[in-house]
Amino acid sequence: MHANHINGRWVESAHAAPNINPSNLAESLGDYAHADEAQTQDAITAAHSALDDWRCGSVQARVDSLDLIGTELLARRQELGKLLAQEEGKTLPEAIGEVARAGYIFKYFSQEALRPDSRITPSVRQGLTVETLREPVGVVGIITPWNFPIAIPAWKIAPALAFGNTVVFKPAELVPGSAWALAEIISRSGIPPGVFNLVNGRGSAVGAAMTSDLRIDALTFTGSVGTGQKIAQALAGRTTRLQMEMGGKNPLVVTDDASLERAVECAVQGAFYSTGQRCTASSRIIVTRGIHQRFVEAFRAKAESLVVGHALDPDTQIGPVVDESQLEQDLAYIAIGKNEGATLAWGGQRVARATNGLFLQPALFVDCDNSMLICKEEIFGPVAAVIPANDYEHALHIANDTPFGLCAGICTTSLGIAQHFKTHSRAGMVMVNAPTAGVDYHVPFGGAKASSYGSHEQGPAAQEFYTTTKTAYICP
Ligand code: NAD
Repeated sequence: MHANHINGRWVESAHAAPNINPSNLAESLGDYAHADEAQTQDAITAAHSALDDWRCGSVQARVDSLDLIGTELLARRQELGKLLAQEEGKTLPEAIGEVARAGYIFKYFSQEALRPDSRITPSVRQGLTVETLREPVGVVGIITPWNFPIAIPAWKIAPALAFGNTVVFKPAELVPGSAWALAEIISRSGIPPGVFNLVNGRGSAVGAAMTSDLRIDALTFTGSVGTGQKIAQALAGRTTRLQMEMGGKNPLVVTDDASLERAVECAVQGAFYSTGQRCTASSRIIVTRGIHQRFVEAFRAKAESLVVGHALDPDTQIGPVVDESQLEQDLAYIAIGKNEGATLAWGGQRVARATNGLFLQPALFVDCDNSMLICKEEIFGPVAAVIPANDYEHALHIANDTPFGLCAGICTTSLGIAQHFKTHSRAGMVMVNAPTAGVDYHVPFGGAKASSYGSHEQGPAAQEFYTTTKTAYICP
């Protein structure tokens, strides 16, 4: 059994669950302990007890540990990428890229530990100086989803530790392998017992124990809107700092003057790669009339050519869906789309391969209307809906007509249109002639409207969440 890591020790649990490979349901990647409420509380106690020494300890020790973790992740990217591809289903190159990203994130934050945004300001009163200091928030609870099993944990754990917080980390129970491997690396990095704790298990047990414990000072969550709402309700009336990154229904606008080749590339990459299982996936492709027919023909031809298969097969471009219930959800939305009157131009069928996996041909819907359910709700699978628009203004209106606001993209060769879209699209991130999915690790990440709550993540934005400001007035 792969145990949990609590107070510097590996602790087994009464229950464990197999880590099933969605490319081959007959294959388990090992059993992973499911913590219960008591073990979660032990982890919180450990993080609480370790806090004072860690927050006041050597910054160089933090730098060295985070740098070491980053170095090992980068060195083992092939091996860990294989594990990630096996448990989550993204293709091997995508998975290796994700592990490398996690490595770079740790390296980036190892240096950010040296750059807290503290400053000395002259006082308006003679003889005084004012210091504005950045201090750790305390015990940080981290709850992550299954679709980026190592990058999302990395972009939360690294800044939390860099700025002197202690951590209780609950990964998604569907993909415990990458999280366990990361915890194992962290456990050998010189970080003292209790500073970092891993508690894998169900959201209803471990997650709920975390959100009900007053000793958690800050909670960072990435996942679905539904779970986010439950967490916000659990914390209501408390002073726990909360940050949430949630779902999306991201638009990609294609205007008449766009490069057809670039637009198709962005649509295919954004809608179907990583099996469409990305919060930043382009699920609504809004295309103006003058290019619509040519775009649909080229998009369909490209979709038809995509190779769906085992995540480790070098020819595979689209890996399996993560589990049975996600596949059911994808197929249910495909049926809804057909009933709503959208035209299924390609795909949408489950397909068989040499191994018994959850393989789904990417689905391309055309003739869609933004009021359809498939254009309103997050599907989280390889399903794209093409929505015709009269012109750019109409396309922009459709793009913004959603409760979500994570990412928005546009393909255009007009600088004027690109600038207008950048200003007027109501999303936290905007892409011009680039897929909506795929971001850098050293700049802020996060959405607007229902996609996000609280401060953004990554890059310099991370400091907002993982530190608190103290103002000191000094009279010598
Ligand atoms: P989910 O909401 O089902 O689960 C996320 C995490 O919350 C898991 O670890 C789960 O065990 C835990 N959880 C469940 N119930 C809980 C509870 N009551 N209390 C505390 N924790 C609980 O999401 P998922 O299916 O793992 O991931 C897919 C979702 O994540 C999609 O909606 C996707 O858009 C979103 N996502 C968002 C971003 C972003 O940055 N905006 C990134 C990746 C994924």
